[in-house]
Amino acid sequence: MKFFVIVLGCVAFAWLIHSFFFKKKKLPTVKRCSVCGVESKYGYSENTKEKIKSIKSICTKCLVSHLRNDYTTFSGRAVVIQPAPGPPCYVFHSNKEWGESFKESKMDDDATAYLLRMDTLCRDCGQKANFLWVESKGLTAHNFGSVLKKGFCETLLPRNPKPVSLCGNCCVNHIAEELKEKEIAYFEVSGPKGVDDGFVIPMAY
Ligand SMILES: [Zn+2]
Ligand SMILES: [Zn+2]
Repeated sequence: MKFFVIVLGCVAFAWLIHSFFFKKKKLPTVKRCSVCGVESKYGYSENTKEKIKSIKSICTKCLVSHLRNDYTTFSGRAVVIQPAPGPPCYVFHSNKEWGESFKESKMDDDATAYLLRMDTLCRDCGQKANFLWVESKGLTAHNFGSVLKKGFCETLLPRNPKPVSLCGNCCVNHIAEELKEKEIAYFEVSGPKGVDDGFVIPMAY
């Protein structure tokens, strides 16, 4: 009888443990796109103008359509560093705002200098270009800080192809291609806004 009670106790305990883990596994861990409801891999940062950040979950397709809107309506110019896996954010900063906050950083100086002498036509489609695409081979989660500090001219350009000028549409095509090809997920993505020149870079805060 005693043996039977012990066995029964063990079975009940095992069942409890099993159902606990089974339930845990079944809890939804997938984030949903706040626009269309499919699985979301990104956070899109709504508006940095009001200094209040709201990051909404978004899927790849909706992210690309938001970015297309941002990049094609932006009236300034920007250096766009190719997306790279590792850093959690892929965000825009205006040179002005960046320069005021990080005086020792050369990133805004490099962006200003290179935007001044960029080609005026898009390499891909021949329309007016306002983005300068810089490839990011060598940029990782560990050294993006040094790229921000020393600028892209000293850190990225020596090991990457010559920067190319692109229009907003073609620039977003390149970004979308990279995100898909390298399966990059970002916690926060923001597109260029406003009228001031700036840069877009994979980074962390
Ligand atoms: Zn969506
Ligand atoms: Zn183009």
